[in-house]
Amino acid sequence: MNYQYTNEFRHHLVEWFNKEKRDLPWRRTSDPYKIWVSEVMLQQTRVDTVIPYYNRFLEKYPTLQDLAYAPQEELLKMWEGLGYYSRARNLQAGVKEVVEKYNAAVPDNRHDISKLKGVGPYTAGAILSIAYKKAEHAVDGNVMRVLSRVLHIEEDIALHKTRKVFEEAVEMLIDEQHPGDFNQALMDLGAMICTPTSPKCLLCPVRDYCTAFSEGDADQLPKKSKKVKNKKVHFKVFIATDQEGRFLIEKRPSEGLLADMWQFPMIETNENSICEETFEQNYNVQIANYIDKDLLKFKHVFSHLTWEMDCIQVQAEQKMELPNDAHFQPIEQIRTLPMPVPMLKILNVLN
Ligand code: SF4
Repeated sequence: MNYQYTNEFRHHLVEWFNKEKRDLPWRRTSDPYKIWVSEVMLQQTRVDTVIPYYNRFLEKYPTLQDLAYAPQEELLKMWEGLGYYSRARNLQAGVKEVVEKYNAAVPDNRHDISKLKGVGPYTAGAILSIAYKKAEHAVDGNVMRVLSRVLHIEEDIALHKTRKVFEEAVEMLIDEQHPGDFNQALMDLGAMICTPTSPKCLLCPVRDYCTAFSEGDADQLPKKSKKVKNKKVHFKVFIATDQEGRFLIEKRPSEGLLADMWQFPMIETNENSICEETFEQNYNVQIANYIDKDLLKFKHVFSHLTWEMDCIQVQAEQKMELPNDAHFQPIEQIRTLPMPVPMLKILNVLN
């Protein structure tokens, strides 16, 4: 794109954004902490879902200090339902670092902000451009889609190294006077107009500068190689109550998927396994009664994994001490603990 075209492109884009932008709570602030929270929540999550979480979260943790020292269990409870819980833990760790190392002022340069836990190149660029008005790139999937079409970039966006190509493209195009608006305009254009399928080119403010539009192949871009297959794992989930009607639950390990969240005991099934025996051995209990052998069946899909859940309800007698991190708890107590979405689904069918 030549100089004049570049100028016109950014002008039309930013003008469109100012007219059409969605009124979102994090667009009414220039506080870098609040923008940081919104950007972390928006990763992998839809805008409509994020809005109530964002409002509740900032009511509970209005400042960096409030979040930095919040108990982790309370934090996970606030995040419950948003998924990808490591985002919450990383956000808290990053915020704590800002409080302790930078005197509670979020760094205003890429070098320092990128060192904070959980702050990748996209989040860094979003905070710097929106809160501090720095001409920094913030490349997410929407931005790659729009620019792959406008500039006809055919590199595979599934490859990590391709991001650099788009970062350089943004550096070339960015509006230095309004970098935050420019970055958000690209994101909004990708979300609202230049959608993955059937882009609404006739409504597009930058149609005159778009190579894919003039070549008629927008639906072929961006190029993306196939993802690895989603793996299926089948679990039998034991909803076990003791004689007092309390439910057996356990805390997941502190590392890995859904770390530190609470769950009902799950036993992975395969052709040879007798789940009931494994359950009894692992938890030092004995099944006294089957209450419901077919309580609930459902699937829960993560990015690379699907859990197929087969839930049964039993009455169990404790034989020996329960393993660490497993407890019988009244249901009211369980409802206050952070639990991942598949466990909340089960909780919903229990009285
Ligand atoms: Fe996307 Fe069409 Fe606009 Fe090009 S003209 S940026 S393909 S919506």
